[in-house]
Amino acid sequence: MRTEEHLAAFGRDGAALEVAGIPLERLAARVGSTPFFAYDRAAITTRVAEVRAALPDRVGLGYAVKANPMPAVVQHLSRLVDSLDVASAGELAVALDTGHDPARISFAGPGKTDAELRRAVAAGAVVEIESRTELQRLVRTGKELAVRPQAAVRVNPPFAVKGSGMRMGGGPQQFGVDAEMVPSLLGEVSPGDVDVLGFHVFAGSQNLRADILVEAQARTVDLVLELATHLRDEVRYVNLGGGFGIPYFEKDERLDLALVGQRLGELLDERLVEALPHAAVSLELGRYLVGEAGVYVTQVVDVKESRGQAYAVVDGGMHHQLAASGNFGQVIRRNYPMALGNRLGDPDTGPVTVVGCLCTPLDLLGDSVELPRPDVGDLVVVFQAGAYGLTASPTAFLGHPAPAEVLL
Ligand SMILES: *Cc1c(COP(=O)(O)O)cnc(C)c1O
Repeated sequence: MRTEEHLAAFGRDGAALEVAGIPLERLAARVGSTPFFAYDRAAITTRVAEVRAALPDRVGLGYAVKANPMPAVVQHLSRLVDSLDVASAGELAVALDTGHDPARISFAGPGKTDAELRRAVAAGAVVEIESRTELQRLVRTGKELAVRPQAAVRVNPPFAVKGSGMRMGGGPQQFGVDAEMVPSLLGEVSPGDVDVLGFHVFAGSQNLRADILVEAQARTVDLVLELATHLRDEVRYVNLGGGFGIPYFEKDERLDLALVGQRLGELLDERLVEALPHAAVSLELGRYLVGEAGVYVTQVVDVKESRGQAYAVVDGGMHHQLAASGNFGQVIRRNYPMALGNRLGDPDTGPVTVVGCLCTPLDLLGDSVELPRPDVGDLVVVFQAGAYGLTASPTAFLGHPAPAEVLL
């Protein structure tokens, strides 16, 4: 997807990009300092509505908080989605603070500590079990607190999902219980000790291929149907994961959401609804709900030329937006879409390398980007910054102050 298309998703007032109707320079003045992250509330609302429209009615929608745990964002989403998925006690606290029904908060992730399990059990959240020993600790925690924990087994499927930016299932994994071990694990459960509601399978992130997601969902449903025969009670919980990707790079094409939704509807009608009539089926999406609603804005503090290469040095960098520097799991570094947000319409004058203010060559935000010749004070906008931005970045590195975050 090209930068112009990212620009078009936001408004424009003359030469200025608008976020939620506010021209960028005015927004920077209102925020009071650069760099900052700005998230567009209406864009999040619209995205959730699009997902709801595409998905079958029977599928619940969850928000994976780790994509953007800003409390105001989580608060906003808590009213729009059915469930919140958390991966730490900190995220659990943010989720509980929204007032969301704790029974619709699920807690996944390897290495949950006893303290985290206690909080989740006490709150009545659903704990997604990642190992046999975690199940044992969960049972012990429930006994200590005199609460019967609600749980689901996170299953590491026997297949991998191709085309995912980050693979989190298939082969050996730190995530989940290997599918072939689940029957014996379930055999060890005393129903009085823990209520195992069903299963969770999350196999990968950032997938743009509808055909691959559809196939993964079909294989996941088959797996769940097979595992269901080993569960003593009815299956009441089927979390199919998600992994819907967003376009970051020029060659990336938008996920065909309608196709995914239609095929999922057919799949559930054909295979799951009759077999597991009490199962609440859900998807959990992080990046897809918030990623495109956010921009990272950083100001040019210096311009220079070095042996024929033009540089713009900005007041932000990889300590806020690590992913744009290419150091958040990317195999090949490619530029995130970016623009001079106060000079839209100025013609590009040649390649400019946009670097952050950290004293390391890793702090590269844009390598030879076609831009108008930047001036000190210009505002560089990095798009697709609403997910895995600030909290996925090493903010303490080099001791600069934290950037502001605003939800508009
Ligand atoms: C990270 C994560 C998600 C969210 O992934 P996205 O690619 O942001 O949608 C969902 N479920 C689990 C278990 C996760 O760990």
